[in-house]
Amino acid sequence: MDKEEILIESQATYRRSMTESVQGRLTLTKKELVFTPSANSSCQEIGFKLEDIVGVEKLGIISSKGIYITRKGGKKERYKLENAKEWIHAIETARREHEKELREATERTGGRRITKEIEVIHEKTRIRCTYCGALIPPDLTQCPNCGAPVRRG
Ligand SMILES: [Zn+2]
Repeated sequence: MDKEEILIESQATYRRSMTESVQGRLTLTKKELVFTPSANSSCQEIGFKLEDIVGVEKLGIISSKGIYITRKGGKKERYKLENAKEWIHAIETARREHEKELREATERTGGRRITKEIEVIHEKTRIRCTYCGALIPPDLTQCPNCGAPVRRG
């Protein structure tokens, strides 16, 4: 994990089941959410990507006792922590930013594909100079590469 990418980090208790809680640290970066259990725990590190989070809500109705996160597929993770409000805001902001980044990346690659398609169209509409073989626009009467008169047909 890149230290510079950490957005928020807190001591947290992971509710593994109704009867089992695990002490550790919860860390949010621009890309993922990671729970690192304390050294003496038998629990494995839990980490998942921001795009796998579908919702984040406050745990407890009146006072905020923590957060629960809904993952893709409906699995819920419960974490007891002090600053639930801050965490919810941070996760929602990070998710929005991350989604925006992913969308922009898709648009960039999509844009490249369109440029390529236009190039192919150009190639189809251009004619080849019978002297030097250069591709030239069909409206020219002289080859811009070798100067030869353009012959059609
Ligand atoms: Zn030519």
